[in-house]
Amino acid sequence: MSLRKHKETPSYTATQNACKMCTPLGATLVFQGIEGCVPLLHGSQGCSTYMRRYLISHFKEPVDIASSNFTEETAVFGGGANLKLAIENVARQYAPSMIGIATTCLSETIGDDVQLILNSMDNTIQGTALVHVSTPSYTGTHVDGFHGAVAAVVDRFNPVGKRIVYRPKKMKKINLFPGMLSNEDLRHLKDIFEEFHTPVTILPDYSERLEGPSWQEYQAIQKGGTPISAIEKMNVAVNSMEFGAVLALTAEMGLETAGDILHKRFGIPCTRLPIPIGVKATDHFLDTLSRISGRPVPERYRKEKWRLVDAYVDGNKYVSKKRALIYGEEDFVVAMAGFLAEVGIIPVLCASGGKSKTFKQALEQTLPDTLIDQVIIQNDMDFTCMEETAAAMPDDQKPELIIGNSKGYAMARRLNIPLVRVGFPIHDRVGGARILHVGYKGALQLFDTIVNTILTAKQTESKIGYSYM
Ligand code: SF4
Repeated sequence: MSLRKHKETPSYTATQNACKMCTPLGATLVFQGIEGCVPLLHGSQGCSTYMRRYLISHFKEPVDIASSNFTEETAVFGGGANLKLAIENVARQYAPSMIGIATTCLSETIGDDVQLILNSMDNTIQGTALVHVSTPSYTGTHVDGFHGAVAAVVDRFNPVGKRIVYRPKKMKKINLFPGMLSNEDLRHLKDIFEEFHTPVTILPDYSERLEGPSWQEYQAIQKGGTPISAIEKMNVAVNSMEFGAVLALTAEMGLETAGDILHKRFGIPCTRLPIPIGVKATDHFLDTLSRISGRPVPERYRKEKWRLVDAYVDGNKYVSKKRALIYGEEDFVVAMAGFLAEVGIIPVLCASGGKSKTFKQALEQTLPDTLIDQVIIQNDMDFTCMEETAAAMPDDQKPELIIGNSKGYAMARRLNIPLVRVGFPIHDRVGGARILHVGYKGALQLFDTIVNTILTAKQTESKIGYSYM
């Protein structure tokens, strides 16, 4: 199986317009998904401003991220005193249930031992739990920070030998670690578990907190998020489900995930699945859920599936053999590529800024053998390299459609290829957090959006125009 390679020697030496975000940003998103939690960045104020800006412009909600506010002096002599003061201030002003502390490049570079500082405070202040995750941005992406924070939270609230005395009786409770999905995805997953009459703890769940109602009065911490009491009971679940084909392969290579922690400490099986985008992946998810819960797949999902398959048939003539460039988080790209392949679109360029060693393998396992030779797979790629690669492709192989977040808009504009916005972040449209990707319903919405984007482009390019398809 041979793969074509992208241009090996870029015309520049540094990353330009990275196709990733910084590592602690992913961790702060996880902390937003825990009830009563305030994220605190140990480092410069500018880092928390950048992350707030990214999250606010995607979710269109207020997002507080505290900072230990490094100065030149702190950078030279260490930030321990600043961190303690920041924790005390946050605990006093917000009275949070938890403070989630993520490190920035600066505090990592000077080597502050954050865990030692927190240990000296018994990992608690005024009844507030302190949870730390190490997130040097120069070694990873926002997704690494996201998974690292989920694991750190599970680790903190499920210590060895502290199994909660709680018996789920007939109700088989499941832990779900969905990865970085949209608010609408999280809500849809909750609905699916409800339809299966199966209790679930989703970690993180920012779907309410980052899309709440208008306030009559100021709220220091918005409502919503996974309650800490539920996280403490994750150790009595019957199974943990983790989404992500790349994550699964990386875990096989030694990454310790939240599911691994619960498995090693409490023997809870961990089931890893691709993100359920498209028919095949959703079938896999629902069948697995049915097996674990012991409940049949509800009738409504059979109807949703056949409605989706019918839509695929109706729209096939518009999408068949179209070529797409997909970019974003590695697991998201793999799941989207699988979905595109099943509707007849060739994902000719699959790109990510992630640096896992398993991206290519995950795509090879996801895409049919008949397609893989037509696909350029490249991670650790920035938008400049992506654009150069797409522009250099022969005309009969060039992408006709680009699928990814708003960060690729400038590239799409220069290449004059329509962009379908999915994933995170979506800064130049409203409703980014309400895009549904998962389940049959999500695939149907994605399919309609893609077909309509292709039709719009055809109408725009047409000299005479037409109004009937
Ligand atoms: S300095 Fe590091 S942590 Fe701060 S915003 Fe930049 S990449 Fe992120």
